[in-house]
Amino acid sequence: KKPVIAIDGYSSTGKSSISKVIAEKLGLVHLDTGALYRGITWFALQNCTDKNGSIDLEQLFLSLHNIQLEFKNLDEELILHLNHEDISKEIRSNEVSDNVSVVAKQKEVRDFLLQYQRSLAEKGGIIMDGRDIGTVVLPNADFKFFLTASIDERTKRRYHELLSLGIEAEEQQVKENLIERDKIDSEREIAPLKQAEDAIVIDNTFLTKEETIESILSYLKN
Ligand code: C5P
Repeated sequence: KKPVIAIDGYSSTGKSSISKVIAEKLGLVHLDTGALYRGITWFALQNCTDKNGSIDLEQLFLSLHNIQLEFKNLDEELILHLNHEDISKEIRSNEVSDNVSVVAKQKEVRDFLLQYQRSLAEKGGIIMDGRDIGTVVLPNADFKFFLTASIDERTKRRYHELLSLGIEAEEQQVKENLIERDKIDSEREIAPLKQAEDAIVIDNTFLTKEETIESILSYLKN
C-alpha cells in the first residue's frame, strides 16, 4: 500500500512546492490543504461581508453548506474549484492572505473541512500539507514532517513566489503577513500549528528546495 505522508510547518517553508515534487516522484496525490482555507476565505470576501467590507463570520457559518470545494485534475495538477469555478489564482491574492488565518481559526470552518480532508486520504497514496495534518487530520500518517526556516528566508521565498504569480507586494508587508499568520495559527484553540510529537523536523533555512526534497526522500526510503 502506498504511504500517507503529512507535511506541516510555518508559512512559506516550501511545504506545497516540495510536496508536489515528492508526489510526482513517488506517484502520490498531493493535497495542499491551505488552498481549502483560502477558498473559503475567498468565498467569504465575495459573499459574506458587512458594510465595511469585512468578513461577517456568522454569515459565513450560515453559508458554509452552499460551498462545494473540489480538486479537479488538470494536466496532472489538482486545481481547486469552488462551486465549479476555478479559483486557483484568486486564492493567492493579498486580500485572501490577510484574512485567511482568522477564518481558519473558526471551529465551524475547521469542522466543515475535516471530513473532506480525511476522506481523501482513505485510500492511501497521498501527501497532504498544512498546519494540523500530523496532529489532527491524519494522526496515523505513515510519515510526518515539520518544516521550519528563518522569517527572513521565508519572506524572501514568498515575495518571489508572489512576483512569479504576477501579484504585486512589498517585502515588509509580506513579512508582516507571515508573522501575523504564524501567530494566529499557533495560538488558536482548535488544531493549532505545532509539530506532532512523532514528526521529523527539518529546518531548511540553509537548504535549497532540492536539498529539502532529498532529505525527506531519504527518510521515506528507510
Ligand atoms: O498553506 P497556506 O499558507 O496557503 O495556508 C493559508 C492559511 O490557511 C494558514 O495561514 C492557516 O491559517 C490556514 N491553514 C490551516 N490549517 C491547514 C492549512 C492551512 O489552518 N491545515
